[in-house]
Amino acid sequence: MDIKYLYINTIGCQMNVYDSRQIACELKSLGYIETKSPDKADLIILNTCSIREKAQEKAFSFLGRLATLKKKKPNLIIGVGGCVAQQEGRNIIKRVPFINIVFGTRAISRLPHLISRVESTNSRIVDIEMPDIMPETINEQSFERASQGPVSNFITIMRGCDNYCTYCVVPHVRGRETSRSPQNIIRDIRNFVKTGTKEVTLLGQNVNSFGKKENLCSFPKLLSQVNDINGLSRIRFTTSHPKDFSEELMYAFRDLEKLCNHLHLPVQSGSNKILKRMNRKYTKELYIEKIEKLRKLRPDISVTSDMIVGFPGETDADFEETLGLMKTVGFDGLFAFIYSDRPNTRASEFSDKIPEKEKKERLQKLLDMQEAITRKKNRNHVGKIESILVEGMSKKHGNVIDKGINEIQWTGRTSTNKIVNFTNGHSQSKGTAFIDSSKEEIATGILIDVRIEKAFSHSLSGKAVTPGPLLNTYKGEKAYVA
Ligand code: SF4
Repeated sequence: MDIKYLYINTIGCQMNVYDSRQIACELKSLGYIETKSPDKADLIILNTCSIREKAQEKAFSFLGRLATLKKKKPNLIIGVGGCVAQQEGRNIIKRVPFINIVFGTRAISRLPHLISRVESTNSRIVDIEMPDIMPETINEQSFERASQGPVSNFITIMRGCDNYCTYCVVPHVRGRETSRSPQNIIRDIRNFVKTGTKEVTLLGQNVNSFGKKENLCSFPKLLSQVNDINGLSRIRFTTSHPKDFSEELMYAFRDLEKLCNHLHLPVQSGSNKILKRMNRKYTKELYIEKIEKLRKLRPDISVTSDMIVGFPGETDADFEETLGLMKTVGFDGLFAFIYSDRPNTRASEFSDKIPEKEKKERLQKLLDMQEAITRKKNRNHVGKIESILVEGMSKKHGNVIDKGINEIQWTGRTSTNKIVNFTNGHSQSKGTAFIDSSKEEIATGILIDVRIEKAFSHSLSGKAVTPGPLLNTYKGEKAYVA
C-alpha cells in the first residue's frame, strides 16, 4: 500500500482532540500517516467547533487559506468534520466549492469508506447522518498504536447531550446523549496505560448522567473501576452538570485515591433569573450548597467553572449577583465567555440582547476579579510541597542551560490541575550544559515532589525536593556536557 500523508487541524475542545485521534486511527487502514505539514499532505481534515462564533470563523478562514494549495495540488482531498460540518452540511460546499467531504460528528467510523469513494470517483460527499447509537469506532489494536506516548490522555465515555441549555449548540450538533460500554472504556484505558499513560481524563458533555439511559453502572462506579487499573496514577473528568452532581460522586472524591483534587463545575451565571432563562435547572443556592458539601469531604479541592456574561436580559443587578457568587465560592480558575447567538438555539431568538460594549465591560470586570482570586489562591501554595506529574520539559526554558548553572525547567501539574514549572534542584558548577532531548520522554510520567516557591496568575514555580529521578534519567554523562 502506498504511503499517503494526512494533515489534521483540530479546533475546539478536548472532545475534538480525541475525535481527531480517532480519525487518524481510522485512516491508517487506507495507508494514511500523519504529517505536521499541510503542504506535504494528500488529505487534509479540518475538525471544527461551533460552540462560539469565533471558532466557526477560524474554521472558514483556515479553509480560505487552503485555496492556493488546492490549486497547486488538484488531487489534494479536503474534508471538514466536527460541529460546524454537522450544523452547516451542504452549505459548506456551497461556500467553499473545493471541499471534497463534509462529515458529521457521528460519521467518523464511516470516514475510510467516504475517503475511498472520493479517491476512486472524485465525487463530493456530505454525510451528516446522526444515529442515536454511537458505534464503537475503532478496534483495540489500532487504538493502542494511535495512542502511544502521552503521559496524559483523553477518553470519551459518552457523546451528545439531552439538556438543551438555551444558548448551546451541542444537542443540535452532537446529538442525543449516549454512553459507551464500561468494558470498552476500561479496555481502552488499560491499553493507554500499556503505552505509558499515567493520567486519564474521562470526557463527556455531562458525565454525571453516564449510563443512565442505557442502564449501565453509575459514573462514580465507573470511576471506581478506573481507580483499580494498575499503573494508572491519576484520574480526571470533564464536564459535570451541577443539577446532576450527586452525593455519590462527592463521596468518590473522598474515597478514590487516584481521583484528582479538582472539579470543573460550570455554573454559567450567579443570577437565578438568568439560570432559569438558560434552562440550567438549578439555583445559585443549590450550586453553593453542593460545593460546600464537597469541600467538607475534600477540603483542599480546587474548583473551576465556566461563566457566560451578557446573556440576553442580564441586568447590572444580575451581573452583580454573578460577581457575588464568585466571591462566595472562590473559584481557583474561571473560563469566561461573552454570550453570542448560535444557530438553532432558543436564546438566539430572545429579543433583549445586551450591547457588545456592555458585554465587553462586564467581561473585563469579571476577569479582573477572578485574576485577584486566582492569585490569592495560588499564593496559598507557596512553601508547600506538591506532587507533580511530570509532562516534559517546559516549553519556555526546557532546551538550553547556561551560566554554569543548571536551569532546566520541567513542567507538570498538581493534582489540583495547576501548572508548575520547576527545576530539579541540582546545580552544575561550570560550563554550558546541554540536554539530550531524545531522552526527554524517559523523565516524563513520574510523580515528583516539588516545593512551590512562586505563584503567578496562571502557574506556579518551584524546585524538586527529590532531584534523584530526573538526574538518574540522564545518567550524568549524556545530560550535561561541561
Ligand atoms: S449541558 Fe447544556 S451547556 Fe452543556 S453541552 Fe448540554 S446543552 Fe450544552
